[in-house]
Amino acid sequence: MIEHQNTNPQELLHSHQLKSTACREGILQAMLDVREALSEHEIRTHLSVDFDRTTFYRSFKTLLEHQLIHKIVLDPQKIKYAVHTHRGSEHAHFYCEQCDSVRCVDGIHMPVVPLPEGYLIHHTDLIIRGLCHNCNTNVS
Ligand SMILES: [Zn+2]
Ligand SMILES: [Zn+2]
Repeated sequence: MIEHQNTNPQELLHSHQLKSTACREGILQAMLDVREALSEHEIRTHLSVDFDRTTFYRSFKTLLEHQLIHKIVLDPQKIKYAVHTHRGSEHAHFYCEQCDSVRCVDGIHMPVVPLPEGYLIHHTDLIIRGLCHNCNTNVS
């Protein structure tokens, strides 16, 4: 699992050569605080300041484009985002089917799939579904 305790929004923005703005920092801070992947709506509800829609979406898009955050598509209706602290490395995600939480899972070698000639991989998604620690220990 990715731990974020030594990461702060300013450092993240700085390491990606991005200017710090209140909204960019706010989004990153909300995501780092919760420490699990959030939907766009959940990110908005966790923001301490209520930024207007345009500001929010512009900042959100910038963070995505510069890969400070990444997208996890669970199904077309369910998309979550997490802070990307390990830049460039593909990793798996764990989805808890009971509480709907998603976490990044490190230390997994993504499968190298032999494809027919002429095929090109853009991205490999690996989602592990099950019960998270909380849900698993609450089962009596
Ligand atoms: Zn759970
Ligand atoms: Zn992730």
